[in-house]
Amino acid sequence: MVKHIEKLVIISKQMMGEHSRMKNNYHKKEKKKVKKVKRRAETVEELANANKEIANQKEEKADVEADLVIANKEVDNQKEEKEDIEDELAATIKELVNQITLRKEALEKIEQIMHYDSLTSLPNRMMLENKLQHEINIAKDQEKKIGILFLDLDDFKPVRNTLGQLHEGEFIKAVARRLTNLIQESGIVARLGGDKFIIMVPNSESSEHVRKVANKIISAFREPFEVNQNEIYVTVSIGISVFPTDGETHGKLIKNAELAMYKAKEKGKNQSVLCTTIMKDIIRENMKLSNGLYRALERDELEVYYQPQISLDTKKIVGLEALLRWNHPVLGVVPPGKFISLAEQNGLIIPIGKWVLHTVCKQNKTWQEAGLTPIRIAVNLSIIQFQNLDIVNQINEVLEVTKLLPKYLELEITESIAMRDTKYIIDVLNTFRKLGIYISIDDFGTEFSSLQYLKLLPINRIKIPMPFIQGINVDQRDEWIIETIIVLARKMGLAVIAEGVETRQQDSFLKKRLCGEIQGYYYYKPMSAKDIEALLQKSS
Ligand code: C2E
Ligand code: MG
Ligand code: MG
Repeated sequence: MVKHIEKLVIISKQMMGEHSRMKNNYHKKEKKKVKKVKRRAETVEELANANKEIANQKEEKADVEADLVIANKEVDNQKEEKEDIEDELAATIKELVNQITLRKEALEKIEQIMHYDSLTSLPNRMMLENKLQHEINIAKDQEKKIGILFLDLDDFKPVRNTLGQLHEGEFIKAVARRLTNLIQESGIVARLGGDKFIIMVPNSESSEHVRKVANKIISAFREPFEVNQNEIYVTVSIGISVFPTDGETHGKLIKNAELAMYKAKEKGKNQSVLCTTIMKDIIRENMKLSNGLYRALERDELEVYYQPQISLDTKKIVGLEALLRWNHPVLGVVPPGKFISLAEQNGLIIPIGKWVLHTVCKQNKTWQEAGLTPIRIAVNLSIIQFQNLDIVNQINEVLEVTKLLPKYLELEITESIAMRDTKYIIDVLNTFRKLGIYISIDDFGTEFSSLQYLKLLPINRIKIPMPFIQGINVDQRDEWIIETIIVLARKMGLAVIAEGVETRQQDSFLKKRLCGEIQGYYYYKPMSAKDIEALLQKSS
């Protein structure tokens, strides 16, 4: 039994051992299982996390893709905009190029109009002057001569009438062609307008060389010109001036060549005349006149003529202008245009001017004393007389000696007088005005006038000069100038007189424009004192 019990104990010990081993095993296994489960759970979590991550990344990717779509769209838009801008730019550039081309063409046209004659396409006066000035600058350094030939066709009027306006242009073009063929590269042919041409021959060795060119031209005109199946024969007169002998500026050279051309006409046309010879003639003639003028006063050769001034309202004589004449013992009556400037140059204008003032005031007083209706007489004053500081005393003295009331004396000054020393002139004129003397501006608007003088100078009257009056019915611009002067004068409270009126049309134009007074051959020419006296007696 004990054995049994011992065996049982052994068995139960064994069983307990087995049990604890089994228990251990079980625990181990369980632990393993738990570990495994734990590991699996961890893996599941990780997986879930990973999925979350993936989902996040997917979302991000979707966002990025959406951004990308937007960005692409933006790029597309920008591309479109860029294309639009490029198109606009191309259009603008095209427009600009067009405008530049148009402008270039316009400039070329202006250049053509400014520098070339529209009929013949030859250089015009302006272009020739530029080229001549350029050649003068070169010739100055190289001591070369330049020839200027001034051409004017002889008796062109009948030719013109034969051709009619239609073929006149063709004829002028034919003349231009012949001249250019003849001169070729040795010079420049320019047209001044009408039947006048100028040829410049640079690099001339001598005046003789230039004269030879002129003679070649005259010979070339022996051949007829064919126009509209007509053979036209015409000759030409040529004046020649040579740089530097006959002038050092383009203006002087052209002017002197023109003077020489007129001399060629005077000498019988169809020939050339060198300016130097005629300049010598002019100087000699002026010397003779100048010498004669010294004795003219002593020999009583000067005489004052008077030209009536008419009121357009009443047609009555309201004033006279004193105009000087020189009765030359050999040359006959010399007009003031020929000797006043000489007298200004040699200073004789001072005694002559004094004599005119005295003669006019004395004559006026004599007429008044003889019972004629008192009238105001205008005397022209030269700038030289004004420069003489004694002018106020001189005029006071004349009025005193002749006892003429100042209101019957009018002084005519020109704009150039006002320009010199305005302050001094204003003072002098104010003194005259205070005395009661009447002041006029002669040849208004023809010199370097400034409208400012109208405001500054104490004047009574403006004289509209003849060149404007000659434009009535001829050039509308002259008419506008006249109208403006009349309105301006009226607004400024000044009287206005038109000078050099020769026709009924001019007279009625001025009447319509309410010009106050008129002076001109249409009514009266300047007359001797005796003739005027008779006229005044009739109207008194
Ligand atoms: P001005 O003072 O402008 O005189 C007007 C000129 O026009 C005068 O010329 C006159 O005869 C002329 N005239 C008037 N009406 C007509 C017309 O209907 N047709 C034409 N073709 N001419 C007309 P004139 O007498 O030869 O005098 C010329 C210039 O000489 C004057 O121009 C004046 O500036 C100056 N002058 C005349 N006498 C004197 C004087 O005694 N002293 C001074 N310093 N200059 C004088
Ligand atoms: Mg005058
Ligand atoms: Mg005048």
